[in-house]
Amino acid sequence: MQHRVACDGGGGALGHPLVYMEIGDGGAVDCGYCDRRFVLVADLAQDNEYRDPAPRHDAH
Ligand SMILES: [Zn+2]
Repeated sequence: MQHRVACDGGGGALGHPLVYMEIGDGGAVDCGYCDRRFVLVADLAQDNEYRDPAPRHDAH
């Protein structure tokens, strides 16, 4: 099972070029630029499909 996440470091001065990483069997991947860790959580699998730098507050 693999899952793709995107990271740009959060944008702004602290950001970095947008990179895509595959979460593999370990269930987590660390961004090579900013060391941010992406952990695959089953309930959030769909939301992890593309991780937006800015928090999204969907109305539900
Ligand atoms: Zn990053």
